[in-house]
Amino acid sequence: MTIASPVSTPAGQSAAAARPGLTPMDDALAQMLARIESLEGCETLSTFDALGRVLAEEVRSLLDVPPADNTSMDGYAMRVADVPAEGTLLPVSQRVPAGVVGEPLQPGTAARIFTGAQLPPGADAVVMQEQCSAVSGEGLGAVQVNTVPTVGQWIRRRGEDVQHGSVVLAAGTRLTPAALGLAASVGAASLTVARRPRVALFSTGDELVMPGEPLRPGAIYNSNRYTLRALLQSFGCVVADLGIVPDQREATRAALREAAAGHDLILTSGGVSVGEEDHIKPAVEAEGRLTLWQMAMKPGKPLAFGEVRRPAAEGGAAWFMGLPGNPVSSYVTCLLLVRPVLLRLQGVTDLAPKAYTLRADFDWLRADKRREFLRVRLNDRGGLDLFANQSSGVLTSAHWGDGLVDNPGGQTIRAGDLVRYLPVREML
Ligand code: AMP
Ligand code: MG
Repeated sequence: MTIASPVSTPAGQSAAAARPGLTPMDDALAQMLARIESLEGCETLSTFDALGRVLAEEVRSLLDVPPADNTSMDGYAMRVADVPAEGTLLPVSQRVPAGVVGEPLQPGTAARIFTGAQLPPGADAVVMQEQCSAVSGEGLGAVQVNTVPTVGQWIRRRGEDVQHGSVVLAAGTRLTPAALGLAASVGAASLTVARRPRVALFSTGDELVMPGEPLRPGAIYNSNRYTLRALLQSFGCVVADLGIVPDQREATRAALREAAAGHDLILTSGGVSVGEEDHIKPAVEAEGRLTLWQMAMKPGKPLAFGEVRRPAAEGGAAWFMGLPGNPVSSYVTCLLLVRPVLLRLQGVTDLAPKAYTLRADFDWLRADKRREFLRVRLNDRGGLDLFANQSSGVLTSAHWGDGLVDNPGGQTIRAGDLVRYLPVREML
């Protein structure tokens, strides 16, 4: 097996490797993120409603979890010193179901106890009921202990999960189902989260018609509107969908002005190249400022970043990101470049996509000069299969694949090589 590239670090490529004028993707991202700060304003939500949101304030525990030593088994609590040998018989002195606080354990006795119940003071071990025989008799009867217990067995210690005073969730954490549960476990009924970014979305292209409308000659259905809107929603945004804007300079400028009002970011697809019918770049330059244009990545070269002035009454500017029209290009650039911007606006600290080093079960001999993102799928042998058609218009590749291989510019891949794999699901 040969190693395709130093895969442990992001496959950054030097400007020299790409065509002059194309910004290396990592540089572009770093430049964008350097300008962007978290949005002002946060809101306090019921913990129930906070899935996917980003914590604006840390969650610190004011208690130990669990709050007291308790049993992880149904069985009998006892003192190890009282059970010198297998078969010891102990009278049962109390019954402690979950939610009940028992009495101190009388020496020489056992307490019947159930999972989650606090350990009675004095007990230092639990023997599971499968290793005991109940013996009927007066009162609660007795128990024959068919094992020799060791101190601490089947006991969940006070604070073994969370210690009083510790930060269980840091500010900037995106709330997963487990994070919500953890917050609830320390008693947090509400959480303070960043407000959702307000994003205005529009598609450019005179050839676009909406699903549900007849497909006139020369037209195609607008798929980016669906893909991008769904991605934005999964990144936690409130999306204002401004529909399709014709390939005209004035219409594009008017759409940008409308989009800037009341929004944090404008996202567009199409019209961002250098053709006569591509109006995004000059329109953004007229209505604001273009900071970056064209990245050394494939798919996705004609990507634009800048800002668009808001109406005077509102002041300031909305961030602008213009994605290429090709459906796979807009999908990939949205995942790799728009996602971190939107997460940064929400104060997320961990912006890098999850990356794994995996074996390629395919050859890729037509390496591009640009850093490439190939649509691949994890197979059941732990390797990666490549979708045969890697054209940036073939959206089937994005659906078929479950991730992207991040391949440095000019790098061919042979079956068996290790490559850098970015699972898409972890970017959603
Ligand atoms: P453009 O970036 O405008 O030059 O578009 C590049 C290619 O992507 C063209 O083949 C367009 O027809 C196609 N395209 C542009 N926008 C969309 C869209 N919203 N949905 C599907 N395909 C699109
Ligand atoms: Mg177009």
